[in-house]
Amino acid sequence: MSLTLNRRRFLASTAGLIALHPFSANAATNQAHLRIMETTDLHVHVFPYDYYADKPRDTVGLARTASLINAVRAEASNALLIDNGDFLQGNPMGDYIAYERGMKEGDTHPVIEAMNALGFDASTLGNHEFNYGIDFLMKALAGANFPVVNANIALELGSDPTKDKTLIPPYVILDHSVTDGAGAAHDIKVGLIGFTPPQVMNWDRRHLEGNVQARDIIETAKAYIPQMKEQGADIIVVLSHSGIGAADASDGMENAAVPLAGLEGVDAILTGHSHLVFPSPDYADFAGADVDAGTLMGTPATMGGFWGSHMGLIDLLLEKDGNAWRVVSAVSEARPISKRNEDRSVTALVESDPAVLAAAQTEHDETLAYVRRAVGKTDAPLHSYFALVADDPSVQIVSIAQLWYIEEMMKGTEHEGLPILSAAAPFKAGGRGGPEYFTDVPKGDVAIKNVSDLYLYPNTVRAVRVTGQQVKDWLERSAGMFNQVEPGAQDVVLLNPEFPSYNFDVIDGVSYQMDLSQPSKYDPKGELLDENASRIVNLTYSGAPLDLGAEFIIATNNYRAGGGGNFPGATSETTVFEGPDTNRDIIVRYIVEKGTISPRADSNWSFAPMEGSTVLFDTGPAATAYLDQVDVNIEPAGDGPDGFARFRISL
Ligand code: MN
Ligand code: MG
Repeated sequence: MSLTLNRRRFLASTAGLIALHPFSANAATNQAHLRIMETTDLHVHVFPYDYYADKPRDTVGLARTASLINAVRAEASNALLIDNGDFLQGNPMGDYIAYERGMKEGDTHPVIEAMNALGFDASTLGNHEFNYGIDFLMKALAGANFPVVNANIALELGSDPTKDKTLIPPYVILDHSVTDGAGAAHDIKVGLIGFTPPQVMNWDRRHLEGNVQARDIIETAKAYIPQMKEQGADIIVVLSHSGIGAADASDGMENAAVPLAGLEGVDAILTGHSHLVFPSPDYADFAGADVDAGTLMGTPATMGGFWGSHMGLIDLLLEKDGNAWRVVSAVSEARPISKRNEDRSVTALVESDPAVLAAAQTEHDETLAYVRRAVGKTDAPLHSYFALVADDPSVQIVSIAQLWYIEEMMKGTEHEGLPILSAAAPFKAGGRGGPEYFTDVPKGDVAIKNVSDLYLYPNTVRAVRVTGQQVKDWLERSAGMFNQVEPGAQDVVLLNPEFPSYNFDVIDGVSYQMDLSQPSKYDPKGELLDENASRIVNLTYSGAPLDLGAEFIIATNNYRAGGGGNFPGATSETTVFEGPDTNRDIIVRYIVEKGTISPRADSNWSFAPMEGSTVLFDTGPAATAYLDQVDVNIEPAGDGPDGFARFRISL
């Protein structure tokens, strides 16, 4: 007892006023406290900086998470630090290294450099580690001063998973020293095994097909865990770059963390991939998840958000039973680096760790230069001043890039051969954002930072499979943007101010007109107003009237496909593809690949002519310069309210 007290005093004095965790303070002679810290889905966010917006951001950055990590290390000496994958891709710094600087022999990737500086004990591979190809990945991993494990991606498959020739080591057994309640050191063997969604074979087919194969996560785990136990692992921690989904295992499941946590021999599980937080109310309704206890199937679990937003933390109280160590008590949590206030402003909760910043400072500066300089050219101006009244290049470029990507993703699936359409909305189109709130990229050079102007939100790409009737209703939903116009009426205010522009989806791949003399079928929230109302007329596909019974794929984003805006046909039931990539990433890749883009609007939609009727439309004053380029009969009509310019359109 006195030893324990002395040790407590000693630790308390060396760590300043930091209190010991109860597991450290109260461990019995045969007990020891093991802490496991997790970062996940960093996506190259080392600095607290948003490179697209080109400004500091308090919600991201390993340099910030590092301060939480350093604080935990001060509280207890037995802490392991593990990253759960998706570190290599996902912001312009990642693209800069992959597309511009490259990885020459001896180069260290800045995110790896930062992880080395922070002293990670291990990591696993996320799906995004494969985005730039296997050669690039292996060059990046060569710089890591810590083991990186993955068990379900193999160069060659064997007769069972343990016979596979895996791409990297499937697992590692770390010798780790823990101190018991009496102050005596013990060596324990901590086994770490990692998994990534087998869907990478589809998502990164062009890099992976013919080079590697993926195994089902649960099948692979079941094969390896007994082997790790045989090799002396006292404790097994699963690094699941696979999120919290269904409790029942199904073949090839993407989010396998719950059944994985329930496997015999698993003592703790680190999850990720979903960019959410565990424990948190987000998972309150998930079978097998206990957000109060912080467990999945009774196993301690954590998920540390994304981009460095949180540090996941699992505290295990271990007890020695003969020669074996077992977990007798556990606590898990996720600690944030910032908090959002009631007025939606953000307060940083920690400072940046200078050593982590220093590790990536050079590449940070280079990335700033990269996002500010041209990576491609546009031979047409990309602006959204008229995006609500005519087909528009700023929406068209998003549509084109989505289509380009989804066509590739549908190959080899049961949906191959269906016509592919693409839905996109103008995110920045005035409204409550004000008269300057428009996309405006002039003809000529396009820089990476312009892409955030084209695509404001960090959405991810999805595809839904819908009927022709749902395509039509999707457009009817969009058509709720406009007030009804009596035939022959003059100067009717066109836009319904209750209708946000991000819910004005234009669908490319079909042609249509909107008849504003008709009432809207849906209200601004997407509630059905009138079953028989129809504003969408002359709807054609491939030159013929659209077959309402035919099937189509629509490329869209996670917001829409997840039910955002309440669009007919856009639901989880119709979703046939959930891409790991952001729509922004796809636009960047498209521009980098094409060099020069020609995002000409194809005028696939317009208002149906209404002889003698005029409407008033308010947009940014800068629109005046483009008046002769818009495919609608429009003239200036003085000033609008609040700094907007007013225009008159003859329908
Ligand atoms: Mn991720
Ligand atoms: Mg178009």
